[in-house]
Amino acid sequence: MPELPDITAYIAALEERIVGHTLEQVRLASVFLLRTVDPPVRSVEGRTVTGLRRIGKRIAIGLDTDIWLVLHLMIAGRLHWKGKGAKLAGKNALAAFDFSSGSLVLTEAGSKRRTSLHVVRGKDLEEMNPGGVEIFETDLAGFRAALSVENRTLKRALTDPRLISGGGSAYSDEILHAAQLSPVTLTPKLKEEEWARLFAATRATMTAWMERLGAEAKKGFPEKVTAFRPEMAVHGRFGLPCPRCGEKVQRIRYADNETNYCAKCQTGGKVLADRSLSRLLGKDWPRTLDELEALKRK
Ligand SMILES: [Zn+2]
Repeated sequence: MPELPDITAYIAALEERIVGHTLEQVRLASVFLLRTVDPPVRSVEGRTVTGLRRIGKRIAIGLDTDIWLVLHLMIAGRLHWKGKGAKLAGKNALAAFDFSSGSLVLTEAGSKRRTSLHVVRGKDLEEMNPGGVEIFETDLAGFRAALSVENRTLKRALTDPRLISGGGSAYSDEILHAAQLSPVTLTPKLKEEEWARLFAATRATMTAWMERLGAEAKKGFPEKVTAFRPEMAVHGRFGLPCPRCGEKVQRIRYADNETNYCAKCQTGGKVLADRSLSRLLGKDWPRTLDELEALKRK
């Protein structure tokens, strides 16, 4: 997070604001942010922005010297558009990029400093790409080949940037719900027809979200980038009704995130093991929705 639709919305909003403008100054408030020394970050100052590119989940800003600023927002990094010379206020503010048109401020919530900035030459730009397949540039065979490289669950395959470009936890839940496939199905077990369904659902889900977030970005800079949106079908909606069948959305919890799915629509009614709950319930762990409901009635 942010994922493909969020990154494309950021890029569209930035294109409108900075292409053709001068990057006057880069202000770094965190020593951890900049991960490269050559070319020096000062070398971009006074240069004109020629364009933007998405490299996986990174945002690359190109200058007229073919030197690029490459930002990876990781989980908690966010961008903000402010008046020129905006103050770097608070411990979350990591950097400001002062353009002749305004200031782009980078923040990261929390104490972990994962967000990164690389300054690279154009010829080295592709090295920043983790190599996942681009869903709008490949076909069904290419999509299937990319996701089948390793024996993985669908959920993990769809969130791995080395397999699929721009993927992540939120939209993978949405894609799997749209495809009516279980998050824990292993990729080698997927049937021909299921691959076609997954590919179509991946493109349709991403297209719908890119259009929605793109339309919002036309109205104003994307200040409220979040993995949790009320229009989502299952992601972040544990216990709420599935928009397709009305059953309650289920979850599998992990240490720092969770997978959401609808048992009726995606797993043939089977409730998947939730580590914390299954430890608590031991052998009483319900395997079906009916059993879960019966348990709740006890
Ligand atoms: Zn459902």
